[in-house]
Amino acid sequence: MTRLFDHHIHSTRSDGTVSLEDRAKSVAMRPHGISDHYPWPSGMRSDGDVLRYLDDAARLGLRVGIEYDLGVAPPLPRSTRDALDYVIGSVHQIALDGRRLGYDVAGAFLKGRVPPPYPEAGRFADRELQRRVLESHLALVREGILETGIDIVGHPTMSPLAALGDPEAAYPVDWQERLIELCVEHGVAIEINEAYRVPHRAFLERAHARGVRFSVGSDSHFALLPLDRTEAMIREAGILSGPFLGGRRAQEGVSTASSS
Ligand SMILES: [Zn+2]
Ligand SMILES: [Zn+2]
Repeated sequence: MTRLFDHHIHSTRSDGTVSLEDRAKSVAMRPHGISDHYPWPSGMRSDGDVLRYLDDAARLGLRVGIEYDLGVAPPLPRSTRDALDYVIGSVHQIALDGRRLGYDVAGAFLKGRVPPPYPEAGRFADRELQRRVLESHLALVREGILETGIDIVGHPTMSPLAALGDPEAAYPVDWQERLIELCVEHGVAIEINEAYRVPHRAFLERAHARGVRFSVGSDSHFALLPLDRTEAMIREAGILSGPFLGGRRAQEGVSTASSS
């Protein structure tokens, strides 16, 4: 497999433990960019903070993206969006009846930080709640694509539904097709996320059949994570031909994962 560009990495500018300077050094080991959370309470609160981060990281030679928190982040000025190499848009929570429904426990479970069984399984077994999560999640992705101009949908199926254990059952095929169609129509890439191990194989196969672009993301917060699981997911889904983003926004710099 060729060295895939890793778009999704955090630094001390948000919740990572490695400085931008040290992230810039590891580019020599493996091609990667930087994509800190926006917003983040320490240092990524305003558009001015994002522009300073962009300058600092670009000066170190990094490709610079952000992980834009869909439904939470302030509107991103078009000029800032255009100045970044790419924007990842991710859902980490939704709002239901005016209350926050966080994906934190599900995320920790999918990352293997909470042992099985998934502690919220009972609550999210409710079909009506599942339906509402699906619709709210997709609405946030749509808004990110149409209004913010995101380039990559980060961990597209990370949610309490994925943590239930059978994503092909939890995400109706029709919902998967709507998400994929949105991405195809707007040239937005679908992220394969190493840390959460999403999306699942059938989703990747469907997306590939529709000709979607993919983006690889380790979602490293500490030491650079290997991309072993990502590479296995790519092989198993038969999507070596990609195309995969190469560190710039969707319309440029695509490649395949095959080394031949
Ligand atoms: Zn995320
Ligand atoms: Zn992240």
